[in-house]
Amino acid sequence: MTQKQIKGLNLKELMEVCEKQDIPTFRAKQIYQWMYRHHIDDIMQMNNIPLALRNYIKDNYILNTLDIENIQESEYENTKKILFKTHDHKLIESVSMIDKNLHTVCISSQVGCSVDCQFCATGMMGFKRNLTCGEIIDQIIHISNLRDEAITNIVYMGMGEPFLNYNEVMKSADILHDHNGMNLGRNRITISTSGILPKIKQFIDEKRGYKLAISLNATDDNTRTKIIPINKKWNINMIIEELEKYPTDKKNMIMLEYVLLKGINDSKEDAEKLSYYGNLLKCKINVIPFNDIGNEYKRPNAEIINKFIEILHKNQKHYQTLVRWSKGIDIDAACGQLSTKTS
Ligand code: SF4
Repeated sequence: MTQKQIKGLNLKELMEVCEKQDIPTFRAKQIYQWMYRHHIDDIMQMNNIPLALRNYIKDNYILNTLDIENIQESEYENTKKILFKTHDHKLIESVSMIDKNLHTVCISSQVGCSVDCQFCATGMMGFKRNLTCGEIIDQIIHISNLRDEAITNIVYMGMGEPFLNYNEVMKSADILHDHNGMNLGRNRITISTSGILPKIKQFIDEKRGYKLAISLNATDDNTRTKIIPINKKWNINMIIEELEKYPTDKKNMIMLEYVLLKGINDSKEDAEKLSYYGNLLKCKINVIPFNDIGNEYKRPNAEIINKFIEILHKNQKHYQTLVRWSKGIDIDAACGQLSTKTS
């Protein structure tokens, strides 16, 4: 008998499973809480569920969708990179970063990625498949069981383009947010996109309320198309126009992400134009000095980075400037460095 994944089912779907088996639907909520609130990955430990139902689930469903293959720890920060294997032997990575009282987990949404951003190691792998909602959530559950510190923030910035796996990503975010699930505030969940315009529209129309991060990475279309080829289809103006509709407030500002690449997007003119977009969108600008992945792209020197930041600060009226000195560089766990070789 083929086993389906029970991890990843939402409450409604679990109730349908119960109904089909003539089991009272309140059991669905109990199973849901065991999985998502208590992070139990052995069905037999769900001790308020009747044995017959536990046996039914055990015989028909897979509870744990991922196995930990390897854990790498940074020597310099409290950062761990976790390599997971799926049931069909695909490899994905997630990163757990603890800094003071924040525990941020960066998760993958796809195996590989089809977007082909030129500065990203995942892009170089090509696309293998979408992750299921269960596989997305299991990254978090494994990390939560691995660490003593409670998870405070989730960022969908690992392997893959979350908006090309929109339904499973949103379903997982809804379970993470749900008070019977992981009970994380909407503003603790950030979904990042390279600019998949129809899905940005859908996300705004559906009033999802999770934080939205856009990998802008250039201020003119020629440069952006060179480093993010889908810019040919959905260019900077189209994206900015759509983002202007985003109902921004202090707790939920759009994040414009800007990977700073030597000689590509690090000029004074780029900094001026980026400030213009920042003031227009009343957002956060997150500058990420590039992390080496062994290709033609390089990080600008400190003087150029400082000058770029200085211009952003000088022009700052309605935006905030952040600089992300990535964590876990020594274990290739920093932004854009996630990649697996044998999947
Ligand atoms: S940056 Fe994101 S969207 Fe671009 S190739 Fe890498 S994983 Fe895909």
